[in-house]
Amino acid sequence: MSSVYEVINPATEKAVTQVALADVEQTDLIIEKAARAFESWRHIAPADRARLLRAFATVVSAHREELAELEIKNSGHTRGNALWEADNVANVLNYYSAAPERLFGRQIPVPNGIDITFKEPLGVVGVIVPWNFPMPIAGWGFAPALAAGNTVVLKPAEYTPLTAIRLGELALEAGIPEGVFNVIPGKGSVVGNRFVTHPQVRKVVFTGSTDVGKSIMAGCAQQVKRVTLELGGKSANIIFADSDIEKAAANAPGAVFDNAGQDCCARSRILIEKSAFEKFMSHFEKAVKNFRVEDPALATAEMGPLISKKQFDAVSAYIDNTVAFTGNAPTGPGFWMAPTVLLPTSTAAASWRDEIFGPVVSVMTFDDEADAIAKANDTEFGLSGSIWSRDSAKAIRVARAVESGNLSVNSNSSVRYWTPFGGYKQSGLGRELGPDALDSFTEVKNVFISTEK
Ligand code: NAD
Repeated sequence: MSSVYEVINPATEKAVTQVALADVEQTDLIIEKAARAFESWRHIAPADRARLLRAFATVVSAHREELAELEIKNSGHTRGNALWEADNVANVLNYYSAAPERLFGRQIPVPNGIDITFKEPLGVVGVIVPWNFPMPIAGWGFAPALAAGNTVVLKPAEYTPLTAIRLGELALEAGIPEGVFNVIPGKGSVVGNRFVTHPQVRKVVFTGSTDVGKSIMAGCAQQVKRVTLELGGKSANIIFADSDIEKAAANAPGAVFDNAGQDCCARSRILIEKSAFEKFMSHFEKAVKNFRVEDPALATAEMGPLISKKQFDAVSAYIDNTVAFTGNAPTGPGFWMAPTVLLPTSTAAASWRDEIFGPVVSVMTFDDEADAIAKANDTEFGLSGSIWSRDSAKAIRVARAVESGNLSVNSNSSVRYWTPFGGYKQSGLGRELGPDALDSFTEVKNVFISTEK
């Protein structure tokens, strides 16, 4: 029996709409439809598949305002972020639209014949998306998967299905054939789990919490099913005394409070060199107090509400007696929380170790380069991070030493669709985006052709 989910606007707590959640039988029917569509999609001429992906990108761009409005209402994302996210889907589609015509194999020298390799699609790919970035994370899965000749079943998170559903409709409008890109709203334990257990789903792309990721990996092992995992983070923002402290402090709030801290790449641990602590904190306090937490529909908003009451309660539990200062937030309906800065006294503090996934950042000092690296690496996560220093050799040494998949020097940016994105340690398995993502959506087939008489 299917059920219905009521979507709530997290900025107002008002109901937006209702969405039907698929049950296992409905999920199976769509997986089977995607498996049938694979037989024709994989054989579409490369230039035609490329054209269809570009058409999809064009339709997404034409609907960027509408998609952004949906995301503001459904997820409380700021207008600036929501527009960037819609554009990111179009950009990623355009980027991978170049792939079908360039999915090269190799010719390998061997005796007595010719050896060639082919990159062949896997079949149906299941993409499971979390609620924090519904559009981009969906696109990072479906765009390269489709480009490589796979068909896709995509499950948005329960809280945030609206933009994914719309993207499914826009794909059809762009001419992507029926059954090639399928959006199935539903529960993780039902639809998501079926992607893991259904033998016709040949790969699962999962982005979400580390605990669920582990269970998905274990489930996929039963069928040796391919899996990519993008999981949690507890990234460090390492600021050396020789850096532009004012700039590092001015940029630090955005690095952790963007999307209300519900960002796997949030720099939620600030490591500041001891001699620069006072200077950094005075600039940082000004920046936090000026960080604009307001109605996300406003063009000036820098942060909106948390996604849900559940998330609000989970984040609130980390706010202890080490609060240094806070920023501002609206009162009244909505899951609003002021940006909060903690000064934990021990690296054993839960606020220092756990991924809080809210607008809470912890600041701690370090003595020297070695201490900074040791503290940054003292976590099971390894997704992202920043290094601020004017000494480029030191910045590069530290970047090489930090166990993390995505680092920035004198910048807090994490995601560029041209470059690989993914985690070390328990932050994930495999890489998305960039030129190599196609490898995880294809099998390499080797064919030997004898030339013997
Ligand atoms: P979550 O793990 O609860 O859910 C993620 C998705 O998995 C949802 O669609 C959910 O319905 C589904 N799911 C839940 N249980 C499942 C099951 N048993 N089988 C199959 N699917 C199941 O995570 P969340 O709360 O939606 O998202 C927050 C987490 O995602 C954070 O830990 C964050 O760090 C992580 N995240 C990671 C990245 C990254 O790229 N590394 C990006 C964004 C979010």
